[in-house]
Amino acid sequence: MLYPRRIDPTGRYFINEALDVTDPALLQSISSPREHLITSLTDLVTTCPPTLPFAGTFAKGLYCGIFVGPTSVAFLFLWLSKTHPDLLINNKSPSDYCGEYLNLGQEEYGPEETQRSGCSLNHEYMCYNAIKACHTKDLTYVRKFAENIDKLTLRPTFIEVLFGKAGLLNLMRTIKYWVPESKEILDPEITKTIDYCLAYDPWTFGIRPDNQSRYIGAGHGDISIISNIVMSDPSYAGKVQGRLEKLLNVQREDGNWLACEDGGSDVVQWCHGAPGFIWCLIPIKKHFPELEGRIDTAIEKARRVVWEKGMLTKEQCLCHGITGNAFALAEPQRSHFLQYATPDAVKAGLADGILEKSSDNCGVWWSEAGRAWGWMMLDYERTGLGDSLVDIGYPGATNP
Ligand SMILES: [Zn+2]
Repeated sequence: MLYPRRIDPTGRYFINEALDVTDPALLQSISSPREHLITSLTDLVTTCPPTLPFAGTFAKGLYCGIFVGPTSVAFLFLWLSKTHPDLLINNKSPSDYCGEYLNLGQEEYGPEETQRSGCSLNHEYMCYNAIKACHTKDLTYVRKFAENIDKLTLRPTFIEVLFGKAGLLNLMRTIKYWVPESKEILDPEITKTIDYCLAYDPWTFGIRPDNQSRYIGAGHGDISIISNIVMSDPSYAGKVQGRLEKLLNVQREDGNWLACEDGGSDVVQWCHGAPGFIWCLIPIKKHFPELEGRIDTAIEKARRVVWEKGMLTKEQCLCHGITGNAFALAEPQRSHFLQYATPDAVKAGLADGILEKSSDNCGVWWSEAGRAWGWMMLDYERTGLGDSLVDIGYPGATNP
């Protein structure tokens, strides 16, 4: 029996049959995350090998930075080159794969901002130069990245993480993390970007300028903007504390947050709802000493709704699936969830139609590279190396 027998009438999630189980011994566990990591990576390089034409299915193989495409896969291998440097898949190391996935014609994507690219995680040129800098430690790419920031003016109101300035903050933090010498070039850009974000209140998002929403979740809204500002420069915590308190105030009684401040969909996933809040709150908690108790209570409440409604029927991924939701939980619930996201469980669920297939087949947000990211995080924790939500984080949104 790979999945629980019953699906909620909304069709969104499996009814968690372990909901009221309090004895950890009765929950399922994961005995070897590394085996699942190896299987997931092997599936990834088989489905979408580092060759042209690239086999990505999202938008006919369009490259969209860390969100979708080969640069997204390269970002996973960049992190694996740190957490699992000696792990060989088909005799190649994570660093070898990172280089190969960065060598798939990305130069054809120009520096301009287009109607749909935004300025950050979905912008191929910005992500390619960022990850290439991390991989090669070559400051040339850092300069190309930094020099382009001021030219991305097509969508000035995009502040959220996937298309907007918050994603730019994560990219700059990532470059600094891998290439500390980039600090001098990037620090002034980080300050400028944070001040730019703070000039907007409230933050809104919508692809159409005449259709803006007050999103608050991690995918397009306030919580990941706040976490990116504070993770990039903790001295700004006081400037966003009021906005954070407002978010804590609108948490619902059941522990979830609706997609928007004034309503919107009630879903339990990383991009909208409680899981994304938990991912974002954990790494920034220490910067809000006055709110620590309230944040802990909010996380505890939020975990209850994830445990109850987070076993999604969408194909497992980080953004809206069991993998991302599992890491919003603490052990042993986390591992119990991940039993439903193993490579075998994914294949079986897709084959018998119980899961809703993703439109992407490889990237780190919506597909296989994201599942591998989860196994990397779990194996990192099992090896006793630290807290993966703080030390590794969500790709492009809460990386250290
Ligand atoms: Zn999503």
